Amino acid sequence: MGTEPERVACNRCGHEWTPRKGGTPKQCVRCKSPYWNRERVQLLYRRPPAARVDGATPYPPLPTLPLPERLAAAAALARRKRDGGGDGAD
Ligand SMILES: [Zn+2]
Repeated sequence: MGTEPERVACNRCGHEWTPRKGGTPKQCVRCKSPYWNRERVQLLYRRPPAARVDGATPYPPLPTLPLPERLAAAAALARRKRDGGGDGAD
């Protein structure tokens, strides 16, 4: 079952093809990009640049509670979990 030629796809232009030789092609046969199989590069570029331009954080800042209240909130959360929040998975 190893006779079928392996098809590859370019991450940049989406082109699919079957390499003639075995192994990894050096570049996409369509867009000629040597980074056709580099997924991480694409992921880096996928980050929206607008989030850093104005210096604002993408998420609103969490309200900071005084320490005793934070402890009480954490204790309440733990108690709710321990008492069985619903699923009771244990
Ligand atoms: Zn390509």
